[in-house]
Amino acid sequence: MFLKANVQTKILPGVTHWQSPEYFAYFPSNSSTAGFLGEMLSAGLNIVGFSWVSSPSATELEVIVLDWLAKMLKLPSAFLSQGEGGGVIQGTASEAVLVALLAARDKLLRRFGKNSLPRLVAYASDQAHASMQKACQISGIHPENCRVLQTDSSNNYSLSPSILREAIAKDVEVGLIPCFLSATVGTTSSTAVDPLFELGKITKDNEMWLHVDAAYAGSACICPEYRHYIDGVEEADSFNMNAHKWFLTNFDCSVLWVKDRNALIQSLSTNPEYLKNKASQGNLVVDYKDWQIPLGRRFRSLKLWMVLRLYGVENLQSYIRNHIKLAKHFEELVSLDQRFEIAAPRTFALICFRLRAPQNDEDCGNKLNKNLLEAVNATGKIFISHTVLSGKYVLRVAVGAPLTEERHIETACKVLQEEATALLGGTGA
Ligand code: PLP
Repeated sequence: MFLKANVQTKILPGVTHWQSPEYFAYFPSNSSTAGFLGEMLSAGLNIVGFSWVSSPSATELEVIVLDWLAKMLKLPSAFLSQGEGGGVIQGTASEAVLVALLAARDKLLRRFGKNSLPRLVAYASDQAHASMQKACQISGIHPENCRVLQTDSSNNYSLSPSILREAIAKDVEVGLIPCFLSATVGTTSSTAVDPLFELGKITKDNEMWLHVDAAYAGSACICPEYRHYIDGVEEADSFNMNAHKWFLTNFDCSVLWVKDRNALIQSLSTNPEYLKNKASQGNLVVDYKDWQIPLGRRFRSLKLWMVLRLYGVENLQSYIRNHIKLAKHFEELVSLDQRFEIAAPRTFALICFRLRAPQNDEDCGNKLNKNLLEAVNATGKIFISHTVLSGKYVLRVAVGAPLTEERHIETACKVLQEEATALLGGTGA
């Protein structure tokens, strides 16, 4: 009894309710009955599936489920387990980009020699997630060789192939070696989509590794009408999506597929005596410890399996479509109020918007929007987050909590309008 009371008095008051239907901050982090059941079973079994022999079902299920999901996304067959590729569940997208970069780095170090590390260059747009920068730091890419390529509103914040081509040409001219591009489908700030097909041609011409970070938007690509956002993925070496964001799978479950699993294994495998066993030595099985940074790993495929089995493709597609429909509704409502403007085109279920700057004074506009965010969140009725696009402070409403309905979207808009009125004075729209 005292524990229950402690949870209520000491824990819950400090919890941010990510599962609330009025939670619109960052990106969603879905929970579901199926995901929860999978988590429970995983917690109960509590296996540590580092190698096949340490719990065969854990490895076998992961291979099967990731092939299913790859097929749902219509990924090229090179990413499936039957050939030289395959999928692996990482804890986070940050680990996914890191292991991909390590594999890309080591491939080039084998070719150009170990001393060539200071010459390797990694590229991403200025909209790429900060995990890319962290991956560069950890993998020893020289800080001056982590290229952050500029984007702007004229391109809807997507990476321009000509900017990439120019940057590579400049680097090659001075003897540097282009190594890695992380392209994003659904950037964190505004869900911009980098053009994979054109970027992929460039990385191929330069024998670089192309990683696709679709951490958020990958889920939407199970719907035929959104699949085109990953057209060109056939040019990629690795593809990542967070099932723990917008796919009803409880945190953590970040899926990484690679075309050349040996590239990962060559970078990450170890073979200590105490782990040796017949199956591994016979090269008959997958040992996921060699596809990731830690040794130990949870039975995460259970929750993804439950989600796929209990909901099925059609329900998952409807789930995504419903959030996108709700996001459109929010966009329409906020656009009807002339005090607001849309700050970047909506592609999936994130709306970037702001109060217009008074007299076009952007400093004042930034302060105003910051105050609005703080006032809205202080109500405790909804929770939203922000970003900065082209120097402008922008509010983000990410629709994607499993319980969000039209009425919650309408509440969100109402709270924003009321707080805007309180800040600006007057009667509102
Ligand atoms: N990539 C993108 C596009 C993201 O939006 C995020 C997080 O929101 C990440 C990577 C990092 O995700 P994780 O927390 O799984 O490392």
